Amino acid sequence: MSSLKIVSRSADETMQLGEKMAAILPVGSTICLLGDLGAGKTTLVKGLAKGLGITETVQSPTFNIMKLYLKGKKPLIHIDAYRLLDHDADIGLDEYIGYEEGITMIEWPQYIAKLIPADAIKITIKNNGDDLRSIEIEASDKLLERLA
Ligand code: ADP
Ligand code: MG
Repeated sequence: MSSLKIVSRSADETMQLGEKMAAILPVGSTICLLGDLGAGKTTLVKGLAKGLGITETVQSPTFNIMKLYLKGKKPLIHIDAYRLLDHDADIGLDEYIGYEEGITMIEWPQYIAKLIPADAIKITIKNNGDDLRSIEIEASDKLLERLA
């Protein structure tokens, strides 16, 4: 695992990064999204969904915990574990995380730490004021080369 730092200057730029990732990420990938509320985690998922050709509106699934999108080029599993806190809820999320035919994007992965595979990609988004965000991606060299 190595890391790559990217600067985003708008929600659109973060969406574009997500679109690029859609083309590069192999199915079976798990992506952990770290960052405060409003950092841009869901925005990145929206870009990825767009890149997969998913036309449904992607929203934060905070109230559903998980949402599946099956109509794109690859299945997308969007999890927001915020409401699970440390409850260690056994609601079958493990069936979807690392699902070998889809891409799993997880907001607040720290609340379901036990379910996160060791090879998960880690993306940390920091709000640097206004529309400025720094995005750090920790993944394999091979993947980062294709993203840079
Ligand atoms: P999170 O899921 O991390 O809570 P959201 O993606 O829901 O965050 O919200 C991020 C908010 O910040 C959105 O309103 C978005 O338009 C705004 N925003 C402004 N600049 C950026 C940027 N560079 N990248 C991502 N979002 C941005
Ligand atoms: Mg969100």
